[in-house]
Amino acid sequence: MAKVSIGLRGWRFDEDEVFTDEGEFRPLDEVPDDTRRRLIRLTYLQGKPCDACYLIHGEAEKKRCNEAELVYGEPMEEVLLCADHEADFLYWFREAGGSAHRETEAFRDEFHEWFASGERAPEGYGGLEHVDTDVDALPTPPDPDELNRRLNESHGGTRKRIDLRTGEITYEEWNGGDEDDEETTDDLGDVDLGQDYPTK
Ligand SMILES: [Zn+2]
Repeated sequence: MAKVSIGLRGWRFDEDEVFTDEGEFRPLDEVPDDTRRRLIRLTYLQGKPCDACYLIHGEAEKKRCNEAELVYGEPMEEVLLCADHEADFLYWFREAGGSAHRETEAFRDEFHEWFASGERAPEGYGGLEHVDTDVDALPTPPDPDELNRRLNESHGGTRKRIDLRTGEITYEEWNGGDEDDEETTDDLGDVDLGQDYPTK
């Protein structure tokens, strides 16, 4: 089964799970849970700064950060990186104990701590495994509004909503008229992600 990255390099999806034969995104109810979580999470991560750049420049100089091109880790605990900082991350993961934190809640924090304390990959560290695809050439994640619309296309009564941070689908009574979806993106906005986590 062909694998494809969407929006950012790093996470890879089975093409058949995500796309129809026509190359459109599948309706989300047909997509396996983990895949759906990552897919939806990507819509949220698009355009966010690189974590490492952000640790260097901080909120005040956020515009100096490179936009992330890569995502590693699990949804909600992921690390975002630009091409310049990928080697540092890979070094941490492979050589500096980072892999011990894979799939744990400490994953991102551990990397941030390591990086913030001044650690870096040695000069010339490479060993990148992936084919260096131009991120601009990757398929774009579906638009969040579009996702919600398609999710609710064919039923009445209850309304399904996607939590854009976690990818969970919830059900609620739908009064039919209120199109204000503010909560969908904001209700978890205050979750404590640690002060070093880039926000936008
Ligand atoms: Zn960076």
